[in-house]
Amino acid sequence: MSEKLRCLIVGSGPAGYTAAIYASRANLAPVLYEGMQPGGQLTTTTEVENFPGYPEGTTGSQLMDDLRKQAERFGADIRFGMVTAVDCSQRPYKVTIDGETELQTETLIIATGASAKYLGLPDEQRYSGSGVSACATCDGFFYRNKTVAVVGGGDTACEEAGYLAGLAAKVYLIVRKDYLRASRIMQERVLQNPKIEVLFEHETIGLTGEAVVQGADLVKRRGKADEEKVHIDIDGFFLAIGHKPNSDIFKPWVETDEVGYIKTQPGSPRTKLPGVFAAGDVADPHYRQAITAAASGCQAAIEAERYLATLE
Ligand SMILES: Cc1cc2nc3c(=O)[nH]c(=O)nc-3n(C[C@H](O)[C@H](O)[C@H](O)COP(=O)(O)OP(=O)(O)OC[C@H]3O[C@@H](n4cnc5c(N)ncnc54)[C@H](O)[C@@H]3O)c2cc1C
Repeated sequence: MSEKLRCLIVGSGPAGYTAAIYASRANLAPVLYEGMQPGGQLTTTTEVENFPGYPEGTTGSQLMDDLRKQAERFGADIRFGMVTAVDCSQRPYKVTIDGETELQTETLIIATGASAKYLGLPDEQRYSGSGVSACATCDGFFYRNKTVAVVGGGDTACEEAGYLAGLAAKVYLIVRKDYLRASRIMQERVLQNPKIEVLFEHETIGLTGEAVVQGADLVKRRGKADEEKVHIDIDGFFLAIGHKPNSDIFKPWVETDEVGYIKTQPGSPRTKLPGVFAAGDVADPHYRQAITAAASGCQAAIEAERYLATLE
């Protein structure tokens, strides 16, 4: 006989843990599966200075530890394991853990996050947290009056370059193609910003620096007759080439956009499937912040409680 749950939460980032706090305080006896990255994306960073309630800032690991303890205090059952399959063809929904254990649940909160895409250079790992970032909103503040580079040519890259130009002394926008893919208005904003220099037809091949990023080696017009090596001095290297929402196993059951973000009803974590909610970065192509993820985790738990009340 498989275990029957009222509320299953998938993911242990700010969205999942916050959902667990609210669901356990509402007596839903939630079970949360942490996945391969207990604590989520924030455990990969050091300083977190923008999460309310920490006037001196904190570390990503400490913040996630605090959220976990808060959820456990109210009885959330937090387990190590991956959700590997989901069957929402009938209620209660069936969920498989680590390819073997099957559970049934009345409500499902998907909080599996989204992973930033990287170029795949070994230097990105080497300088992770020491000058390499995939989030201008999170880390831009550390580069006030410094020189940074942003990689990408789409709307996000232009937006991040514009945001960083408000803080940094200079921003290079490294674009592989000879044009920007971004919307016309975003292109204009970037091209007219005196602090931003667009390096068209440039590709990054490596980063330099002792302990932290101090420069980037680029190739201009790679493979062409006039190919040229270029070096720029920078203090920060920001990736803005997209994210991959961790939504693959849920795709047969919920709607996603072309990138894979789970579509929810505007202003709510409700998916098109009754009792199934999506919270945090997996459903958020716009903000992708710990506080917005936590807020939508709260909303998902409140929605789960209300949905269960209609069943009972
Ligand atoms: C380096 C870095 C620094 C950042 N700095 C800041 C900052 O300073 N301030 C800020 O507000 N934001 C910051 N962010 C962004 C912030 O981390 C995210 O917006 C936030 O973590 C999203 O929370 P989430 O709960 O949606 O998902 P995540 O934190 O991504 O967590 C997803 C969770 O889902 C789990 N999971 C995935 N698939 C499965 C599965 N199949 N089964 C079970 N579990 C699964 C994972 O193990 C993980 O626990 C930063 C991000 C990065 C990468």
